[in-house]
Amino acid sequence: MDHFLYKDGVLHAEDVPVADIAAAVGTPFYVYSTATLERHFNLFNDALEGLDHLVCYAMKAASNVAILKTLARLGAGMDVVSGGEYLRAKAAGVPGDKIVFSGVGKTREEMRLALEGGIRQFNVESEPEMEALSAVAEGMGLRAPITVRVNPDVDAKTHAKIATGKSENKFGIPISRAREVYALAARLPGLEVIGIDVHIGSQLTDLEPFRQAYLKVGELTGILRADGHDIRRLDLGGGLGIPYTRGNEAPPLPSQYGAMIKETLGHLGCEIEIEPGRLIAGNAGLLVSEVIYVKSGEGRDFLILDAAMNDLIRPAMYDAWHDIVPVIQPAPAAEQQPYDIVGPVCESGDTFARQRMMPALAAGDLVAFRSAGAYGAVMASEYNTRPLVPEVLVNGQDFAVIRARPTFDEILNRDIIPSWL
Ligand SMILES: *Cc1c(COP(=O)(O)O)cnc(C)c1O
Repeated sequence: MDHFLYKDGVLHAEDVPVADIAAAVGTPFYVYSTATLERHFNLFNDALEGLDHLVCYAMKAASNVAILKTLARLGAGMDVVSGGEYLRAKAAGVPGDKIVFSGVGKTREEMRLALEGGIRQFNVESEPEMEALSAVAEGMGLRAPITVRVNPDVDAKTHAKIATGKSENKFGIPISRAREVYALAARLPGLEVIGIDVHIGSQLTDLEPFRQAYLKVGELTGILRADGHDIRRLDLGGGLGIPYTRGNEAPPLPSQYGAMIKETLGHLGCEIEIEPGRLIAGNAGLLVSEVIYVKSGEGRDFLILDAAMNDLIRPAMYDAWHDIVPVIQPAPAAEQQPYDIVGPVCESGDTFARQRMMPALAAGDLVAFRSAGAYGAVMASEYNTRPLVPEVLVNGQDFAVIRARPTFDEILNRDIIPSWL
């Protein structure tokens, strides 16, 4: 459920007409709903009630500091994958003991930054990383709290680019090698082993792969405890999917996910951490765009938008399907026609949808991409020297620009001309 509904024939973000934001900010832009962000965080938090737990928002899904603050004031922790994201979490006021550092290639500088500022734990993914972290921490007179990310070799049954839990993926250490890797961790003077981490992929629409992975983590907990490791925290990753197509797909609810966690791991007395990203931010954001031209091609009509693949890359990169709706509500009996919906970038890949049934649209009309809040603005670029798409946050009747569109002067002034030119 989200808070983007038609009221009086106009699409609203909570109580604000989307067309009003377009008039104030210009198109294209992303708009997020505070109420939806809060609702989704609370669904996860409630789903784990009764367990000692922390919901760490995976901010790579949408990392604007205003979004992070919205979640942090509800008590969210943060899952970060870079030094930059760590600094964003800090800028949002998240204390270090609620920040988890994930990722397969943390640099020594990033480790130092997080150890200096405070960290809940590092989820380490390899033996060389362990040795580096131990050396960095020891050099600072510290012991770094760690979990080891294990790769449970389960098929997440999701898009190949976002599956991470099979043995051929680059992530984690094979679960079959866990005992020797934990033994090494225990010997390294700069590390303190506190738990186990697993994350098998993104946009999972079935609980079964999670269940298989979590059962393996439960079994491993017993084995590692018998080896003398104090396993007291289980980080179960993120990955729960959202419905991009309304009606067809019904991913499990956070409540069902939480019940499955309690059933598979609740008896172990561990603190439970989860790292949802997409499910918190995905349906909390729209990308709003204006139709520049309607172009009639051979046997097909193109809707040419002012948004492009540089603003929302998911269709080009993951073959993703986004619901695209007119901002002015069509009449209930309005006839639909097929359009190819494209952006202005000079690549055929700059296609958002092919032969999409839409009511008739004209130049100047506004459309909204639904479910664009996660992996949208954060993956935007300035390809074709198109200014980075701005972001807006709505809260009830209020809205605010939370990242402004850069001016062309700002863009051009970033380039530096060397002395010989
Ligand atoms: C990407 C990622 C997440 C979040 O995944 P979602 O599908 O957005 O929930 C969580 N943890 C790790 C380690 C990740 O890489």
